[in-house]
Amino acid sequence: MEHDADILIVGGGLNGPALALALAQGGLSVTVVDARPAPDRAELGFDGRAYALAIASRRLLSVIGIWPRVADKVQPMLRILTSDGGSRSPARLAFDSAEIEEGPMGFMLEDRHLYRAFLDAMAENSRITLLSGETVTGQEITPTAATVTLRSGRQLSARLLVGCDGRASGTAARAGIRRQGWGYGQTALVTALWHEADHDGTAEQIFLPAGPLALLPLPGGHHSSIVWSEREATAAAIQSLDDAAYLATLRPHLPARLGEVKLAGARFTYPLTLTLAERFAAPRLALVGDAAHGVHPIAGQGLNLGLRDVGALAQVVIEAQRRGEDIGAIDVLERYQRWRRFDATTLALGMDSVNRLFSNTNPILTLGRGLGMGLVNALPGLRRRFIRQAAGLSDDLPKLLAGQPI
Ligand SMILES: Cc1cc2nc3c(=O)[nH]c(=O)nc-3n(C[C@H](O)[C@H](O)[C@H](O)COP(=O)(O)OP(=O)(O)OC[C@H]3O[C@@H](n4cnc5c(N)ncnc54)[C@H](O)[C@@H]3O)c2cc1C
Repeated sequence: MEHDADILIVGGGLNGPALALALAQGGLSVTVVDARPAPDRAELGFDGRAYALAIASRRLLSVIGIWPRVADKVQPMLRILTSDGGSRSPARLAFDSAEIEEGPMGFMLEDRHLYRAFLDAMAENSRITLLSGETVTGQEITPTAATVTLRSGRQLSARLLVGCDGRASGTAARAGIRRQGWGYGQTALVTALWHEADHDGTAEQIFLPAGPLALLPLPGGHHSSIVWSEREATAAAIQSLDDAAYLATLRPHLPARLGEVKLAGARFTYPLTLTLAERFAAPRLALVGDAAHGVHPIAGQGLNLGLRDVGALAQVVIEAQRRGEDIGAIDVLERYQRWRRFDATTLALGMDSVNRLFSNTNPILTLGRGLGMGLVNALPGLRRRFIRQAAGLSDDLPKLLAGQPI
């Protein structure tokens, strides 16, 4: 049967383009359909939205040709401080990249630079077709093809359909894949700050009673992005304040080391929910990134987790193709599911428990977390494990995340 492409990806956010580039490198043809018109997002100025990319994610981005396009725009994270803003005697964990041999634990990169690099790389790749501003409204899976229908009525078919369409994945819903999850009653307030003192590559996670406040260093030394989790009603009230009142509410939570601070980016809010698809694979269909698992941004792991899916699915599919297997067959796609579902579920639930433990004023939990943080700080072996985990250097990594082509 004739198909429009080997693989059809619904969703051109971040994981969709990364997967398209990885698959094209393996010789497969890919069509990416994204509802949002590409120029809309690519032409944004500085808005403070940024990602913490783990070492393993940087390796994948290098192999698929994205890293050279963004290398001069990243801020290395040289140390991570974790402080307990909710207890009377704040405990502090300091992770220093000097403690592992791989170099900086992670890199901050703004959304607009990463997205622009993906767009340019896809445009230069003759195996990739991007249809932006097109919405998928229907899909049909048969023994030989996956076919989607666009709002315009146009139909496209492929051997494999991949849902990279985010937390409310229509691809999963249309395939009857249910999701489990819950809200946290929290909303993340996201913006960027200018600060007088140089951040020296320091990221800080401050655990406040209502939720964590993350300070993430941006290039140049004097800007940081913040992700500030608050209870829903409080967050809505803070978001409705003018800039001066917003800053006055935020300032008491910020570390004194920053000196004078000003707001320096657009102000966004994101509702915080945990969502896990009950399956990551079905005949001729796979789910990747937030479509498979939406986690709490407490450790900035959402995109890193998605890029691990990208590495695993690309490897499974490219190796199956080389062996002459049908890349849409369920036994092939179950290899991907076995590889990724356990890791994603453990991480999602891990973030969930950390959030519950820290978003709390219960004195026993407060004491427990103080002791736990003191203990981790005192034991170098345990500290090293935490640092390696934050850097995404676990075992059983897909080749792309180990920096090797497939
Ligand atoms: C406040 C906050 C801070 C974060 N910070 C970090 C961080 O520091 N580090 C990190 O690793 N992660 C972070 N994350 C998580 C990260 O943003 C997400 O994991 C990542 O953006 C998910 O990418 P995705 O491509 O899977 O999905 P999305 O970015 O949600 O993209 C989905 C795409 O699918 C398209 N789409 C949907 N439906 C259709 C349809 N029917 N037809 C066509 N197209 C469709 C949409 O237009 C969209 O472009 C953060 C998240 C939040 C909320």
